[in-house]
Amino acid sequence: MNNLLNPNREHPEVYVTHGADAYANTIAVLKKFDLSPVLGKKVLLKPNVGRMAKIGTGTNTNPEVVAAAIDVFRDAGAIVAIGESPISGVKTMESFKLAGITAIAEERGCRLIDLDRQKPVITDIPGGRAIQSLKICADIFDFDFVVSIPVMKIHMHTDVTLSIKNMKGCLWRRSKVDLHMLPQLEGTSFKSLDIAIGDMAVVLRPDFSIIDGSICMEGLGPGAGTPKELNVVLAGGDGFATDAVACRLMGLDAHNVPHLLTGSENGCGVIDLEQIKVFPENWMDFSSEFAAAPKNLTFEFDNVEVFDKNSCSACQSTLLLFLQKYGNLLPDYIPEGERLKVAIGKGHESLPEGTLCIGQCTVQHKEFGVFVPGCPPVGSQIFNALKESSYLSPRGNSPEVGSTQW
Ligand code: SF4
Repeated sequence: MNNLLNPNREHPEVYVTHGADAYANTIAVLKKFDLSPVLGKKVLLKPNVGRMAKIGTGTNTNPEVVAAAIDVFRDAGAIVAIGESPISGVKTMESFKLAGITAIAEERGCRLIDLDRQKPVITDIPGGRAIQSLKICADIFDFDFVVSIPVMKIHMHTDVTLSIKNMKGCLWRRSKVDLHMLPQLEGTSFKSLDIAIGDMAVVLRPDFSIIDGSICMEGLGPGAGTPKELNVVLAGGDGFATDAVACRLMGLDAHNVPHLLTGSENGCGVIDLEQIKVFPENWMDFSSEFAAAPKNLTFEFDNVEVFDKNSCSACQSTLLLFLQKYGNLLPDYIPEGERLKVAIGKGHESLPEGTLCIGQCTVQHKEFGVFVPGCPPVGSQIFNALKESSYLSPRGNSPEVGSTQW
C-alpha cells in the first residue's frame, strides 16, 4: 500500500472545510495537501455511487465533490479515472448517470470504469479473522493511487459508511454480499461483517480519502435514510483518521464503530483523535448529531409486521429498501385493519398464512404465502410478487369468493 499521501503515519492530518458550495469546499480542502506524489501517476477516484438515486438525496456522493477531485488531481499532474462496482442488481453506468457523475465526467473528458467488467483478482488476507481472501475488481490494480470519496452516511449494519467501508465497492459483483452472510465468530460480540471490513482494510484501503459531507444521510442508511445537510468536506491521507473525524462530526466515536476499531487494531490506520491533527482548530463547530438507524423495523413501518429469524444483513437491507420505495403503495395490498406480514431469514417453524416470504431462506413456506426467490431479491421483485399474488389483491379488485385472505 502506498503511503506517499500520508507522510506522518503516527499523527495523520485531516482537514475540514465548511460552506454551501461543495465544489469550492473540496477544492479548498485538497489545496491543504501536498499532492506532488501523484505527478504522472494513475489515480482512481472511487465515489459511493452504489445505488440508483438522484442527486441531493444523500445516497450517493455529490458529483460536485467528484468534479473538484478530478480538477485538483489533474492539476497535480495525475491521470484520473472514476470507478465503481455498485450493489447487486444495479448497473454501474446507469447509477453513474442518475447520480450526475456521467455529466461531470463527460464535461471533463474523464474516463468512467465499470469495475465489474473484468474477472476479479483473488487476493489473500494475511491474518484475516472473518475472511481469508477477497475477489477484488481487477482494475484497482492498474492504479497507483485509489482515492475513496464516500458520502457521509449512517449505516444500519455497520453504524457508518465512510471511506473505509466505501472500499467494499471495489469488491467484485455479488462477492460483496458474501460479507453479509458470514457466520458469527466465537469469542466476540462484533458482527462478522464488521470484522470482515477490518480484514479487508489489510489489503484494500484508500491511499487518500475525501468525505462528502454536503448532503449526508441519517436514520435508515445506507439506502433508505433521511438527507441531512451538513455542508462539510473533509480529507486526509489516512482513511481511518479521516473516518474518525467524520464520526466525531456525526456525534459518534470511531472506537464504537466496530469495523473502524478492528481495522485500526489490524494496524491499518489511526482512529484516536488525540493522535490525529485536525484543522482548522474550530472544526467541531461544524458537527451535528446524526439520528441512528432504528433497531426495530416494525416500529418504523407500523402497517408491517416482520418475522425475522437468522436473516443476514443483505436480506434486511433488501426489506428496508423495499419498504422505503414501495411502502406508500402497500396500503393498497393490505386489507383494512390488517398489517402486512413479512418473513426473512431461515429456520421459521411456522408463519401465518399469506406471509410475504422474502429470499431463498424462506422457501419452505412458499405454499402458504407470497414467496420471492433470490439471495437476496431486489425491491422491484418483491413488489411484483405482491402484485401478482393470489393472496393479496389490490383494493378495488375484490378477491374471488373463496380465495384466501388475511
Ligand atoms: S435469502 Fe436472505 S437471509 Fe437467506 S442467505 Fe440469502 S440474503 Fe441471507
